[in-house]
This record gives sequence, structure tokens and C-alpha cells, in this order.
Amino acid sequence: MQEEALNILEKFWGYRNFRPQQMEVIQSILNKKDTLTLFPTGGGKSICFQVPALMQDGICIVVSPLISLMEDQVNTLQQKNIKAMAITGGISYNDLDRNLDNCIFGNFKFLYLSPERLQQELVRERLKQMNINLLVVDEAHCISQWGHDFRPAYRNIAEIRKFLPETSIAAFTATATRDVVKDICEQLEMDEPEVHKKSFQRSNLGYQVIRTEDKYFRLLQILNSESAIIYVRSRNATQSISEFLNKNNITAAAYHGGLQKEEKSARFEKWMSNKVSVMVATNAFGMGIDKPDVRTVIHMDLPESLESYFQEAGRAGRDTKPAKAIILTNEGDIPVLKNQFLNNLPSVEDIKLVYKKLNAYFRIAFGEGENTEYDFNFADFCNQYQFNSQKTYNALQLLDRCSILRLSQNYQKKTELKILLSGSHLDHFLDDNPKYSQILRPILRTYGGIFDNLTSFNLSTICEKSGLTDQKVLSLLEDLHQREIIEFHLAKHDASIIFLVPREDSATINPVAGFINQYNTSKRKKIESVLEFVTNEEVCKQIQLLGYFGETELTTCNKCSVCLKKTDEPSKDEMNEIYLKIIKLLRPGQMDSREIISHLNYNEKTILKVLGLLCEKSILERSDNNKYKIANK
Ligand code: ADP
Repeated sequence: MQEEALNILEKFWGYRNFRPQQMEVIQSILNKKDTLTLFPTGGGKSICFQVPALMQDGICIVVSPLISLMEDQVNTLQQKNIKAMAITGGISYNDLDRNLDNCIFGNFKFLYLSPERLQQELVRERLKQMNINLLVVDEAHCISQWGHDFRPAYRNIAEIRKFLPETSIAAFTATATRDVVKDICEQLEMDEPEVHKKSFQRSNLGYQVIRTEDKYFRLLQILNSESAIIYVRSRNATQSISEFLNKNNITAAAYHGGLQKEEKSARFEKWMSNKVSVMVATNAFGMGIDKPDVRTVIHMDLPESLESYFQEAGRAGRDTKPAKAIILTNEGDIPVLKNQFLNNLPSVEDIKLVYKKLNAYFRIAFGEGENTEYDFNFADFCNQYQFNSQKTYNALQLLDRCSILRLSQNYQKKTELKILLSGSHLDHFLDDNPKYSQILRPILRTYGGIFDNLTSFNLSTICEKSGLTDQKVLSLLEDLHQREIIEFHLAKHDASIIFLVPREDSATINPVAGFINQYNTSKRKKIESVLEFVTNEEVCKQIQLLGYFGETELTTCNKCSVCLKKTDEPSKDEMNEIYLKIIKLLRPGQMDSREIISHLNYNEKTILKVLGLLCEKSILERSDNNKYKIANK
């Protein structure tokens, strides 16, 4: 059996050996045991189910939470001439029907589905006709509300076990605390599961929490031309930090969920091929990133859970060479985190109110509304009912998670504008038609590139700057559009809402009240754990982090910010790093030891030791005013 597995591994992947524990997982799957595999990101989970599925007759069904993950895996399999298909959103009933038929009669080996798709009657009917050799649940932590990506539809996966009594389940995840592991096994109705767990220890990764009042300055000290990711919370920050880095000769690009698809792929490509070193991103830059040579991952804002932190930090050093995961923080971050994630958690009562008003807003009568879709202007809704926008947003997200409604952001339909006349022609036009100056002048001052591209812009900013009302600005813009002075597209709404169940007000919410309360408790615990992690300066950061995931037998890492402060004996690598940084610091001019120490994030004693050694070797010398400078040779 092992030999056959190795043959398949070599034939399709070109690898000669399994990584530690992969064979055990494969063996367990081939023995038809329910199997739960906990490997860190990059640990090689996919091969663990793809190899045994290829060794057996029939098709393997893979439940996966994200379209991009499904597409990635299907593309990789297709490149190896393995027949694989993903059924993703927006597909017609007829196409779905045809694709499922293809799976039954076309010798497909893998079918990737979302958990919601698995609930569809047609899909279930067709699954009954397939010869299914394995049911895989990828990113299985989504099943648990104690996990960080809870997806209610994951809880219904086990329903299909009723008509697939012979098929075993293999679940995979890269992060799971003990509670989550228990939840996964229970929810998937696993029968005496074999659990395979690789330590999440990353011996090449140094976790560092650095306190600083000037995060931008620190960035310049930490970064160089090596590959890095900086995580921030806001889209604006991705833009401003990448501009700041580019100005300081560190090539960077910004990435967030609001970018057009083509723009996202173009920036991703540049970063992947090392044409830019640093990607400054929101957490939209996430699952499925497999770049081996990322040397540093920096968090500029505190993460919202240790689960997401572990995954994001884990994108550094996948090539097993030394790498750093750094959190830059100061006192001000703690209230920001609490404010963003705790103060705006909606209670059951808040959610009932938002749901009721939402129905009123769309004039949905009691008992109606099921499966109806509406264009939704979020800001207008909050305005109308004087709702706090963050809390309302969270309430809508929770209603979405509870499958009461489906919220889809619609960034394509944003308000956009382009000026069609060239600069001098525009001046003439404005001289002849001065009434348009009051809106075009502020637009020209606010938005660069508006002569070249359709540029998304904010109507209320222009109202504010011109002192005109919404209606007035709109009518002037529409005039200009008619006269072909500008091209103008107005978005009347920024999202759409599909109501999934009939309106019953409190009776709709009551069944999920327990979940909402648990969700809020779990969210609070997660934030507390993050705060403990960043403030605990006694225990090795790696031990703290892995302890959170239930690992106990751990030794100190000697690389994290806590260990580095404690060790008296610095490593050679570290001394070398300090040496290079001191030389860089002193190149423009001399500095005293205090200044040097304040610029470097290393143990003070070690810096002084390196300074001493450099003077001994006449690489540095001390001037009369007790400052260090590079020696003139
Ligand atoms: P995960 O899903 O655990 O994050 P993947 O399945 O994407 O990890 O695997 C990460 C990388 O490791 C992939 O490029 C994969 O081809 C590679 N890999 C997996 N198993 C082996 C192996 N036995 N030998 C060499 N490379 C492997």
C-alpha cells in the first residue's frame, strides 16, 4: 500500500518521499477510518487526501469554504491531468445539472463544493448516484463557533452522511484549539476518529512584539529588499503605508478587498515575482498564499484573534529559513482593539431591532420576504434609523452567518467619474460656464488621474467641499455627463440583501439567540487572549502561542522578543545582524550609544558588546565627544 502511495506521489507530484505524518493520515483514510488532521499551514494537507482518493475507484467530494481555494486546487489537479471540478457561485440550474451529470459519467476524481451547495436538493440527489470514495472537509475549523471563521452551513455537512453510510470523512485544518477539535468531531459525527496532529512549532520563526510610538520609523528599520507582508486593518492604511515605503526606497504595493479583480492579480503577481518586496494588505490577503521566501510578516494593528494571527504570521519563512513575525504596538492599540471588536458587539436585542427595521425599510410584510433580493444602501439605512454603523454592520454579518439573510457587497457598482476634456479645453469650458466650477474645481483638487481613468469618488466629499446639496451636485454632474464633458456612473446602492427566511421578527431571531450569545462570549475571549499575548513579557512567545492551541511540551524558542531579552549570550547571527545595522546607522554620521540603542530593537547589552567588538577591530572609533563613527582607514 505504501509503495502504491509513493508511486502516485512521484507520478503526479514528482516528490519522492512523504513528509512526516502524511503517510499515517493516508493509511488511516485508506483504512476507511474517520480522520482529523491538524497540520500547520504549508504542512502538506492536500496531498494527504488527494493521494488516497487517486488510489481508489470513485470520486472524492471536497467541501471548501472559499471559491479561490477551490479554484487553486482544481487548477493544480487539472495541470496534472487529473479530472477535477469545482462548482462555484452564480451557476444556472441547467449548468449545475449538467456538471453533476458529468461527475457521475465522466470519471471525475474530485468534486469541490461549498457547504451551502451541499444543502441543495439537486446536489444531494446526484451525490446519491455517485460512487464516493471519500468526503473531505477542508478548513474544518469553520464548523465551530469557537473557531475564527465560523460558517453555519458547515454544521449541516453531517446530514449527508445519512445516505453515504459507507463513506468515511477526512477533516483538515491548520488551526484548532481543544474546544474546536471536540466540536469538529461531534458536528461531523465522526466515529472513533483518528486524530493526526503535527506540532505547530515553527522553529525558524521568531515571534516578536515590539513596543514603539513611531511604527513608521520602525518599519524602515525592519524592512529591506527582502519579501515581506504588512497587515493593517484599513484600506486607507494599505495605501498610505505603501506610499510611505515607496518614498523611502522600499518597493511596496497595497492590497485590499475593494480592488478590482484585475488590479488584485496584477499586484499579487508583482509581489510573487519579487518585483515589489512588500505587500501592505488587509486580511483580504489571506488563505492560499504559498510564497516560500517571505522573510517578515508585520502586524501594524493588533490582530482580532490568535487563530488569525497564527495563520497570518505563518506566511513568513515557509522555506524553513530564518524569518520573523512582528507585532508593532503601543498603549493606544488596546482601546482601539476593544472599541472595534468588543464595544460594538450587537446583543440579541440589537439584532432583533436591526432585523425589524430592515424589514420596515424594505416594507416587507409579516410572514413574507423569503428569497427576495433588494439593493441596499447601508449608509442610508443607518442614517434613517440613527444606528451606529459598526454595530449595525456586525449585526448584519451575524444575520448572514445565521443564514437569515445573505449580504453581498457590490464594489463593482461604485460611483465613478472621468473628465473627458483636456486641461486647456476644460478651462475654456469653465470660463464660459462658471456654474460648474463649484463642483469641478474641488473634484480636480481632490482626485488625481481623473483625466485618464474612471476614478471612484465620494459624492458626500464633493457636497461638503462645494457647500451644495446632494441633489444639486448630482444634477450638475448629470448635466455634464449629457454634454459629454465628463463620463459619470452613479451607484445607487453599495450592497444587496437576499432575505432567506420569511419575516417573523423576534420569532426569526429567537432560535439563533443562543448562538449569538455564544458568539459574543467567544469573541471576548479571543480578544482577551490577544491582549494577554502582547502584554505577557515573561513567557516565550512561541510557548504562549502554541499553548493556546493546546500544545504543552514545549521548550523556549530563543528567537522571540521575550527570549531575546532574557538570553545573555547572543547568537552569532544576531551579532552579525546588529553589526550590519550599526554600520548602516552610522554611515550618514556619528551617534552616541544611547541613540544607537534607541534605533535598534535588540538587547541593550548585546548592542554594547557589538560596539565594543567593532571598536576593538578598528571598524568603528569613538570621537572626542564620545560618539561612535565608522573608522577612517
Ligand atoms: P497546506 O494545505 O497544509 O497549507 P499544501 O497542501 O498546500 O499545504 O502543501 C504546501 C506545499 O508543500 C505544496 O507546494 C505541496 O506541493 C508541498 N508538499 C506537500 N507534500 C509534500 C511532500 N511530501 N514533498 C514535497 N513537497 C510537498
